[in-house]
Amino acid sequence: MSRIAWFKDLDKDSLSVAGGKGTNLGIMFNLGLPVPPGFAITAQTYQEFIDRTGIRLRIEQFLQQLNVEDTKTLQEVAQKIQKLIESAPVPEDIAEEIADNYELLGADYRKASQLVTGNNVFVAVRSSATAEDLPEASFAGQQATFLNIKGREEVITAVRSCWASLFTARAIYYREKNKFPHMKVLISVIIQKMVNATHSGIMFTINPATNNAHEIVIEATYGLGEMIVGGEVNPDLYIVDKSSREIKKIEIKKKEMAMFRTESGRNEKRAIPAAEQTRQAISDVHIKELARYGKKIEDHYGLPQDIEWAIEKDQVYIVQSRAVTTFKPKENKLSPEIQEEEGKIILKGETASSGVYTGRVKIINDPSELDRIEKGDILVTTMTTPDMVPAMQRAGAIVTNEGGMTCHAAIVSREMGTPCIVGTEHATEVLKEGQLITVHASRGIVYEGKVQVAQEKISATPINAGADIITATEIKVILDLPDVAEHAAASGADGVGLVRLEIMIANGGIHPAEYIRQGRENDYVQLLKEGIRTIAKAFAAKPVWVRCSDLRSDEYRNLEGGSSEPKESDPMIGWHGIRRLLDQPAILRAEFKAIRELHYEGLKNVGVMIPFVIRANEVRTAKEMMREIGLEPCKAIDFGVMIETPASCWVIEDICKEGISFVSFGTNDLTQLTLGIDRNNSRIARLFDELHPAVLGEMAKVIRVCKKYGVKTSLCGQSGSNPAMAEFLVHQGIDSISANVDAIDTIRRIVAKTERKLLLDAERERQ
Ligand code: PEP
Ligand code: MG
Repeated sequence: MSRIAWFKDLDKDSLSVAGGKGTNLGIMFNLGLPVPPGFAITAQTYQEFIDRTGIRLRIEQFLQQLNVEDTKTLQEVAQKIQKLIESAPVPEDIAEEIADNYELLGADYRKASQLVTGNNVFVAVRSSATAEDLPEASFAGQQATFLNIKGREEVITAVRSCWASLFTARAIYYREKNKFPHMKVLISVIIQKMVNATHSGIMFTINPATNNAHEIVIEATYGLGEMIVGGEVNPDLYIVDKSSREIKKIEIKKKEMAMFRTESGRNEKRAIPAAEQTRQAISDVHIKELARYGKKIEDHYGLPQDIEWAIEKDQVYIVQSRAVTTFKPKENKLSPEIQEEEGKIILKGETASSGVYTGRVKIINDPSELDRIEKGDILVTTMTTPDMVPAMQRAGAIVTNEGGMTCHAAIVSREMGTPCIVGTEHATEVLKEGQLITVHASRGIVYEGKVQVAQEKISATPINAGADIITATEIKVILDLPDVAEHAAASGADGVGLVRLEIMIANGGIHPAEYIRQGRENDYVQLLKEGIRTIAKAFAAKPVWVRCSDLRSDEYRNLEGGSSEPKESDPMIGWHGIRRLLDQPAILRAEFKAIRELHYEGLKNVGVMIPFVIRANEVRTAKEMMREIGLEPCKAIDFGVMIETPASCWVIEDICKEGISFVSFGTNDLTQLTLGIDRNNSRIARLFDELHPAVLGEMAKVIRVCKKYGVKTSLCGQSGSNPAMAEFLVHQGIDSISANVDAIDTIRRIVAKTERKLLLDAERERQ
């Protein structure tokens, strides 16, 4: 087998040869997109390298009986293996083959037979991990990337460092935890020509400001793209109609500076001559050409894309593309031009969790019928409640009549990765029992029968894609299902900002009040301990904030003892949260005890927060109860308050004075209560807006007051996955933001960008 595979030779089946990155580049190249030229050094070449140099055995010896929980030894072993790889001479024939192909990049890559020796170009050298039968192994932690590499020797050195990066402490830890055999995980290395950009920018195939899916938005400036990503320049903005490619809007900005690459490969900022500063950065022809590529990529992947592009010598290049998973289409109706599959659409709704699934319908009219759901069925129901979780876990897809982005069906299905469409209004009438349907959740549509959807259209960016981006604002994850804790931890999130106990409770099958009624408090403690322990361990020493149960009286009727729940006219604003826990202190005590016992086991990263607070005295009473069971709030354990009622915003000063470690905004409820919009009502879901000035005003006030009292601020509602909210929060100086695991990468990037811009603005003001 050849050691080198040029992009033209790679396709969707190349994972085991070229890893995730290489495969994607191959797919884009073969779509006819102008990807900068390059090739993959196959994963099997790495294998050959460790075999022929004889270091395989030594690596195996180092890894034998390694206890990855012993951080110091893990670091030492990781360094030893990396040194071993980096100092092993690459066999001459391998080195020569790589270097010769590298030199081909200096020629016209489309005429690869023209070898122009000595004409060395700058390349990026990137790792692309893979594993036989284990494509997810590309999540295996950090893998090195080297930019602006030039020359045969330098390329070989960078390739070896990429191979070595398969053995960072983090990657070893991750593989151990996920039981990936170390030696089966291989690494491909991508060598790609660097574009020496005269112009560059970003393109969104959906308007991020308005969520308009019919528009493509392009930002452009002179020189390299770093200035845009870093927020250091105000780029031009062009809006293009996606189907006609007519340019709808051109906003020219003053571009005073730009970054260019010097001869030696350094990046250098230069002033732009006055006459060019206010000129349109790129021509209309290039704008339309870019829009055409943007649409093509989006059509291929089936999801809106966030694309980096560059121009060198009038040639447009697509440098990178990743899915934008967090923008929700404003309208439920899908425009015909983005319906690609052949098939009859029978239902439309809102995307709660992306993906595609074909299966048979099971209509559930009453929770008592949930046992009928077998593995792989499509669960169709009016509205899911948390007590349906066990059945939801068996379902292949979920379709509901009611609900919006923040309803439990949406929250849980996103976590499980189960395709889910909510708010269809008529699913239970239109769909028939046993009917075969295809749920294209990424597009919010249901097709009759089996409809073919290309697999790569539903692939998304790896969750840890930006794990090496450092932000001052911590980026955490929301996590309710212990089963997916390892997966969520692999995102590199800085902790868990919200663990909802309700999902563990639903899986346990017994209502907490019933445990107490039966005198089985300890069984409840054990149930919670088990679930929380799994999460706390997966996140090692990172903080995990557990929310005490928030049990609405209508949502758990199907559990044992659930029929004793009171019938309330409006359970959303009824007997739940801390008000209920203080009425039924035995439940709260059991929850505190579970956490106390985990602390005794050494899991001191577990913190606690109380939901639906409206008065400072609720905080005081809860703290007293915690003290009574032997944990000192705010000292031995992080003790926080959820800010999800307007009342709590008004009395935030009093709450802070009680002494708390942190607050966390529950924007699902805060928006519902501030705007007076039932979050489960699909009829008014379009009015549900976490960015409403009233909600933002409340949050800004709370952050301001908390800063005065040294109380940390966080957010754990669904809006943490919305880039616009993240940007707002960074401006307010929030300490941490929690997002859904599939949105971590996007949020991390937007936070990094916003932080850099703030720093630069501050710097400019000082000057
Ligand atoms: C919220 O209200 O934003 C929240 C995180 O809690 P829940 O969604 O469980 O009500
Ligand atoms: Mg809430």
